Amino acid sequence: TGKRAFIAGVADDNGYGWAIAKALAAAGAEILVGTWVPALNIFETSLRRGKFDESRKLPDGSLMEIAKVYPLDAVYDTPEDVPEDVKANKRYAGASNWTVKEVVETVKNDFGSIDILVHSLANGPEVTKSLLETSRRGYLAAISASSYSYVSLLQHFLPIMNPGGASISLTYIASERIIPGYGGGMSSAKAALESDTRVLAYEAGRKGKIRVNTISAGPLGSRAAKAIGFIEKMIEYSYVNAPLQKELLADEVGNTAAFLVSPLASAITGSTIYVDNGLNTMGLAL
Ligand code: NAD
Repeated sequence: TGKRAFIAGVADDNGYGWAIAKALAAAGAEILVGTWVPALNIFETSLRRGKFDESRKLPDGSLMEIAKVYPLDAVYDTPEDVPEDVKANKRYAGASNWTVKEVVETVKNDFGSIDILVHSLANGPEVTKSLLETSRRGYLAAISASSYSYVSLLQHFLPIMNPGGASISLTYIASERIIPGYGGGMSSAKAALESDTRVLAYEAGRKGKIRVNTISAGPLGSRAAKAIGFIEKMIEYSYVNAPLQKELLADEVGNTAAFLVSPLASAITGSTIYVDNGLNTMGLAL
């Protein structure tokens, strides 16, 4: 309670970012979100028109309030990094101050500081290609959007994070086990994200008393997951083979996130926490 959270990677009410926002709001946090620039208009319009009101409902019956929606493209750190064609793009030209550095400056001007940073975004333009077919460009784009974006966000937010604060990201078990179909360098990007979680836990812990963890989540039929193409099969596989044979709810990941950024988890940092109905523990699926 009384804390302020910035959640990067919310553009509808289906994904993990939204569920995390709700769990933090239910625990009394003030919610700021970062929304990918091309998705900004439709998200804000839907929000304003009440399209999300049903899913904004918190356990006490009130509706989650989002204090401010910031346009964000986490593959660009400063305005100098933005290529001309992106600058000229209609959807980008309509918004401003959406590079990482500018978003953090704007948050600082608006609110002064934050306590919680959540990274719930990923993108791999060649995700449907096997790693053997992935181009250098596609691989580096996956790493840039899905791994370095977290380094950059924490690097820029750390100076305005209150000591005792915490940060989390979302990862996937394809980083450590073979998941055919999770291609384009996305498996590599998640491996980098998990390794960076440990190194950043050390650096941000020493520098700012900030804890850094990542949640390895089971399959959810989000917008991003549907783009990969086999999410329904993954959900079915998990349902059949996991120790807990039940649907995995986004709220279960949200609740774990709320725990991890709370004082209840004050000695947990540098960890990859599985929220997957236990699927990761199976050695043989029958
Ligand atoms: P989602 O579609 O709700 O979230 C992904 C978000 O990333 C979208 O809002 C998209 O607009 C945003 N985004 C993409 N590129 C961006 C950029 N350059 N700058 C800013 N935002 C950008 O889908 P999700 O599945 O909830 O994904 C959230 C996180 O959870 C991701 O890291 C994903 O890899 C991870 N995850 C998902 C699953 C799953 O099955 N859905 C499983 C494990 C981990």
